[in-house]
Amino acid sequence: MLNRSDYWQCAYVVPKGSFDNKKTAGIAAFREELAQLLQMEPDRAEELETWEQVKLLSVQVNRLETWWRSGLLCIGDAAHAMSPVGGVGVNLAVQDAVAAANLLADPLRRSVLADRHLQAVQRRRMWPTRATQRLQILIQDRVLLSALRKRSNVRAPLALRLISSIPVLRDIPGRIVGIGLRPEHANTVVVRSEATSPTRWERHLHTE
Ligand SMILES: Cc1cc2nc3c(=O)[nH]c(=O)nc-3n(C[C@H](O)[C@H](O)[C@H](O)COP(=O)(O)OP(=O)(O)OC[C@H]3O[C@@H](n4cnc5c(N)ncnc54)[C@H](O)[C@@H]3O)c2cc1C
Repeated sequence: MLNRSDYWQCAYVVPKGSFDNKKTAGIAAFREELAQLLQMEPDRAEELETWEQVKLLSVQVNRLETWWRSGLLCIGDAAHAMSPVGGVGVNLAVQDAVAAANLLADPLRRSVLADRHLQAVQRRRMWPTRATQRLQILIQDRVLLSALRKRSNVRAPLALRLISSIPVLRDIPGRIVGIGLRPEHANTVVVRSEATSPTRWERHLHTE
C-alpha cells in the first residue's frame, strides 16, 4: 500500500489468469477479501464501487534475442520487460541508457556509428539483465507464488530469514536493488564550443 496523501494506492497480487474469476464473483466479494487484508477500518474497502477503479497490470518477464538493427537500438523494457519484483525495472532502464550513451556518444559525434557499436550495448547489458530477471523469477516462484497459494499465514523462506537477521548479509539485497549487478557511470564528455550560449536549463539554474 502506498500513501498518496489523499488516497491509498494498493497492489493486490493475484495468480496470472485468475482476474476474470474475481470479476465474476463480483465487486462485493472483492471488497470483502480486501477488507480482511486492509490495515485500517474494514469499511474503507467500501470506497471501491466499480471495477473501473481496479486496473489489471499483467506482469511479463522476457527479453529480445537481439536488441538492435541497423539504425535502431532497444533498451529498457523495449529490450527486456521486467517484473515489479524488487522494483528494479527503472534502474535497469536507466543503466541501459547510461551504457548506451557511453558506448555510442563518440561514434555518433564522429558520424561513424556502425552495427558493432549497437551490438556492444547489448553485450554489456545482457548479463545484468538476465541475472536480474532470474532473481526476480526465483523470488516470484519461491516466495510470492507460495504466499498466494497458502490460505494461512506464510513464513519467509530460511534464506530470506537468514539474510534479514545477519547485518552483513542484510546489505546485499539493498546493493543489488539500489546499485544493480553491473553499475553504470556516465563517462561521456560534454563538448561545447566557447561560443555556444548557455542552454535553457543552465539559464534556469542561474536564475534559481
Ligand atoms: C505492475 C508493475 C509495477 C512495477 N513497479 C516497479 C517499481 O516499483 N520500480 C521499478 O523500478 N520498476 C517497476 N516496474 C518495472 C518498470 O515499470 C519498467 O521496467 C520501467 O518502466 C521500464 O522503463 P522504460 O523507460 O524502458 O519503459 P516505459 O517506462 O514503459 O517507457 C516507455 C514510454 O514510451 C511511451 N511510448 C510507447 N509507445 C510510444 C510511441 N509509439 N511513441 C511515443 N512514445 C511511446 C510510453 O507511453 C512510455 O511512456 C513495474 C512494472 C509493472 C508491470
